[in-house]
Amino acid sequence: MEFGRTPQDIEHKRRVFLIAFYAVVGSLFLVSFSLLSLMQGRTTFGLMLIANSVFCVSFMIYSRVTSRVRAVSYLFSAQAGALALYLVLHGGVEGTGVYFTYSLALMMIMLGITSFRSGIAISLLFMAVMAVGLYAGFPGVYEYDAVHKSRIILSLSAICMMALISEWMRIKSYAAITNTAEKLSADATHDPLTKLLNRRGLEEEVGRMSGTDFPAVVAVVDIDHFKKINDQYGHDAGDVALRCVAEYLRSNMKGRDLICRWGGEQFVVIFRHTSLKNANKVLTQISDEARVGSIRYGASTFRITFSAGVIQMRGRGEFQSCLSQADQLLYHAKENGRDRIVTTERLKAEVAQVRPGR
Ligand code: GH3
Ligand code: MG
Repeated sequence: MEFGRTPQDIEHKRRVFLIAFYAVVGSLFLVSFSLLSLMQGRTTFGLMLIANSVFCVSFMIYSRVTSRVRAVSYLFSAQAGALALYLVLHGGVEGTGVYFTYSLALMMIMLGITSFRSGIAISLLFMAVMAVGLYAGFPGVYEYDAVHKSRIILSLSAICMMALISEWMRIKSYAAITNTAEKLSADATHDPLTKLLNRRGLEEEVGRMSGTDFPAVVAVVDIDHFKKINDQYGHDAGDVALRCVAEYLRSNMKGRDLICRWGGEQFVVIFRHTSLKNANKVLTQISDEARVGSIRYGASTFRITFSAGVIQMRGRGEFQSCLSQADQLLYHAKENGRDRIVTTERLKAEVAQVRPGR
């Protein structure tokens, strides 16, 4: 049986499996014993067992139809606990009802548990009600002798404890799987140096963009003469500069915008639901900040500038073509002296200036 890929998925399928198992196996047991009881003249007991089996099957169907797996598993947990209490206190056939309560107590914990604490609470409540029922002398409670009573309490406590230990281990391993899964996913989609999205992370985020994110603006940002920084101050200083640029972008853009280290000293940013004019304004602000801000590395202090190609994106299907157009605009910025932001409008204006007569 496939138990899912994410911890939430695994937990959901575990509950689906337990519900199906409990409903099918439980109702088979219940129907067999109810028929036996009816044939032997224990009508009330037999009808009670039949009612429980009807409950099992109808709630399993309900969980299938409505997908309310969690709610139904809690209902089943309550039913298992109540049935176990009934079997112990009623005694079943000559006090043998107690034999069936061990598996019911296990099911009660497995289906009802949401955390280790909730498991302890369920077990304590169950044991407390049972102890009161056995010792308070209520009418209709099966009369076990004193030794039996204490052993029923002790053996059921041991079963609950074992189930809790096993569930605790399961919950701990889920937490470990969740942490590992989250870390792996962050590692796969983020750049370790700048903590920005990497290429794969950006592509995944673009795939998730919806209609309300458009029109968006894509910019390809590239540090000018970065090689010289590496050559002059060392590779580590270059890394510091990359982190600084990441910080300039992060601190000036909105949390909903996408910032990615596309590779080397090149960044791709996407402004969601904005105009070219607004995006250009923000990028100019970042560019001004970079130009005047000094980057410190050891005893050295240096400055950086960057160039960018900026273009509007009207739908996520345009991403690749926008990227190559923004790249061409970036090339134009580099060709024309660097430290500049080039949009299609600006390019047109420059071309018009060069060829005024046309
Ligand atoms: P231009 O203004 O035309 O963009 O010139 P440039 O020097 O910035 O570009 P070029 O492509 O010539 O050099 C980029 C350099 O970036 C070369 C490479 O060694 C360096 N680089 C790439 N990735 C990293 C990195 O992670 N850390 C550091 N320190 N340097 C890197
Ligand atoms: Mg460069």
